[in-house]
Amino acid sequence: MANILAVGIATLDIINTVQQFPQEDAEVRALSQHQSRGGNATNTLSILSQLGHHCAWAGVLIDEPDSIVIKQDLAKHHINISNCSVLKYGKMPTSYITLNQQTGSRTIVHHRDCPEFDFAQFKQIDLQHYDWLHFEGRNISETCMMVKYYKQQYPQLPCSIEIEKPRDGIEQLFELADILLFSKHYAESKGFENATAFLESLSINVTASCAWGELGAWLKTADKQIIHSPAFSPKQLIDTLGAGDTFNAGMIHSFLSNHNEQQAINYACQLAGHKCGHPGLTLSQLEFN
Ligand code: ADP
Repeated sequence: MANILAVGIATLDIINTVQQFPQEDAEVRALSQHQSRGGNATNTLSILSQLGHHCAWAGVLIDEPDSIVIKQDLAKHHINISNCSVLKYGKMPTSYITLNQQTGSRTIVHHRDCPEFDFAQFKQIDLQHYDWLHFEGRNISETCMMVKYYKQQYPQLPCSIEIEKPRDGIEQLFELADILLFSKHYAESKGFENATAFLESLSINVTASCAWGELGAWLKTADKQIIHSPAFSPKQLIDTLGAGDTFNAGMIHSFLSNHNEQQAINYACQLAGHKCGHPGLTLSQLEFN
């Protein structure tokens, strides 16, 4: 099993389920409330940890009550937080989510007072024992410096970069990755209606996947072939939140297992499909390995 470090954020999601979406200025009771930890990099780590890897997160924790839920969940998944920077003041990234039971719509108010993990902090990490690095495509200039720096020190250490949202200058990261993990949201934001057209438009020699919900995922191989895996529907569709992060974990796990590119997207789609049949990101009942 591998040692994996992911750089990105952890968030707190506070989810109120309501009968119907309230009118402005109304006062309504929630049918139920629950809290969970979110954040793409930490979600991916929690899946990789359940697949048996030793996982560490590098990000920012604020010393305030909302970080307790986040730390408890990371501890539950045996995710090492010793590389994180801990700040005295601020607010953990928090999503206040109103979930309409009738329509399934999720209205989100997000608040944070939390700086990004930066290059100076990354340079403090002893990378020699890691087998894989994973980065969220955010905080672009600092993340570029992190990847360039580590590639000089450890040229054999592979990295994946998740490209989920369009952000200024994000294309600078493309050439630096060993594997690029694009979302449907990103491809659509660039005007593409399907993953094949999007992947063909990329002029880089980097293995790149693009997940596309219930249609599965496509992958452009390093020698520019486009390959596809269908989605694997669970018996009952329960929860698709975090499907993309689970897919990314499946890709990383597969490449670390020396699977070829076709095996990797097939495995990632199977893993993400299984997740969609279960609430949250706990795979233990699935015995999926
Ligand atoms: P995101 O969570 O970023 O929106 P996607 O919706 O593209 O990610 O889903 C990622 C992967 O999860 C897909 O490639 C697919 O394999 C799987 N998946 C998503 N939705 C479903 C579904 N309804 N049924 C089966 N698999 C799904």
